Amino acid sequence: MEAVPFIGVSRHRINIDGKGVNTLAAFHGCPLRCRYCLNPTCFGKTDELTRYTPETLFDYVRIDNIYFLYTGGGICFGGGEPLLRTDFIREFRKLCGDAWKITVETSLAVPRSSVEAAAEVIDDFIVDIKDTNPDIYKAYTGCSNRRSLQNLRWLISAKGAEHIMVRVPLIPNFNTDADRDRSVALLHEMGITQIDKFNYVVR
Ligand code: SF4
Repeated sequence: MEAVPFIGVSRHRINIDGKGVNTLAAFHGCPLRCRYCLNPTCFGKTDELTRYTPETLFDYVRIDNIYFLYTGGGICFGGGEPLLRTDFIREFRKLCGDAWKITVETSLAVPRSSVEAAAEVIDDFIVDIKDTNPDIYKAYTGCSNRRSLQNLRWLISAKGAEHIMVRVPLIPNFNTDADRDRSVALLHEMGITQIDKFNYVVR
């Protein structure tokens, strides 16, 4: 497999990307265009970015193997949108085996086939749902949320809600507390129990 660009690899993240000590590996590339995107380098040129194959990334991050095993952590793929790189993640799973936890931070704004392929090898999903109201989502990301919500419903049935945590932000100038409460209520109806309500900070 060809080496692909990453916007960063960050070690020793404790209980931020799921349980235990994790290394966050953030892919370049994202289908959304969030107005307050914290990672604009994921849309920029790739010339200066570090590239990894599954093998070279595994060689780099395995230095923390003992932390991963001891704490129940592992690697978290973010971005950008990691489910645009499902083939990479599947190859990485073959290298690290079952001992490491693999988590993704995703918007689920990708084709269903990518979610299905990912679900076979990923342990836990952190889903940034933005807002479940289609008009708010479109205004904030430039895209429809139809695909994300349909993929979330599928993922709940395929993996079980215990493997999914949904992040529901308050987005200044785009949604309100009442909007966010409606999103939370819909997520509860769908069967989601792990919900992280937080506030975007606009810089
Ligand atoms: S999903 Fe994340 S990386 Fe993509 S545009 Fe939105 S904030 Fe940026």
